[in-house]
Amino acid sequence: MRIALLLPAALASIAAAPATVVPGTAAPVIVAAPAVLATEQGALVRGQLPAGATGLSLDGKAVRTTADGRYVIGFGRDAPATATLSWRNGNDITTEAVRIAPRLWRIQSLPTLPPKPVPDAEFDAKRPAELARIKAARADISDLNAWQGVFIAPANGPITGVYGSQRILAGIPSAPHAGIDYAAPAGAPVIAPAAGIVRLASGPFLLEGNLVMIDHGFGVVSAFLHLSRLDVKEGDSVHQGQRIGAVGGTGRATGPHLHWAVTWTDVRVDPATLLGAR
Ligand SMILES: [Zn+2]
Repeated sequence: MRIALLLPAALASIAAAPATVVPGTAAPVIVAAPAVLATEQGALVRGQLPAGATGLSLDGKAVRTTADGRYVIGFGRDAPATATLSWRNGNDITTEAVRIAPRLWRIQSLPTLPPKPVPDAEFDAKRPAELARIKAARADISDLNAWQGVFIAPANGPITGVYGSQRILAGIPSAPHAGIDYAAPAGAPVIAPAAGIVRLASGPFLLEGNLVMIDHGFGVVSAFLHLSRLDVKEGDSVHQGQRIGAVGGTGRATGPHLHWAVTWTDVRVDPATLLGAR
């Protein structure tokens, strides 16, 4: 269920409703009408502040805005039901409630644990450095504006895994699936869903395999996992639709597919909310 369809092409303004002048008073009294932004768990939301507004924050965390007040914010799979946006305009501080509708996640229970493809000792030895590289690729909040446009699917193929789903393996909940899986044969093209700068193109990582990460600006970063080939290198500027690699099954994967994940700062969001209708 989609609560608020915020079309990228027509960035929705979620400014406070127009102030109301109360009639019959000597001096105009400005009444700030309550405004609520409605969204849902996992959503990446793009909006625009009223003219002249600055100092945007989400639950007290500073949020970057463009010169004309555009911004992007994201909500995780398990985001609570409400959040608060606030900004300044001159001496005035405006706060706006964000309503975050819950979503139903697909939960699958399996009786047994899958075999581990990598011995624990090797995993423990290599994994911290890998995680540090992935974290570093997301660390800088760049001023690129590619996050403002309409994203396109990075691969052709049926979606075989959705964001937010979770497996319970032998009674132990595994980490929720934090991206979209596209089924496609090994070697099929993977393209950039939006323009950006390649922050990481390397591998194979233990879980991710050959991995490309693209910075779309303002904290929005895409990751493409399990690639059989890398067609870009770190620092490359890519345009939307440019080939960045090929589908594969490297890393921890049961077969060839593309896993596409999107983060906003350190929040894992649903890539589907960046595409058009779903
Ligand atoms: Zn996946």
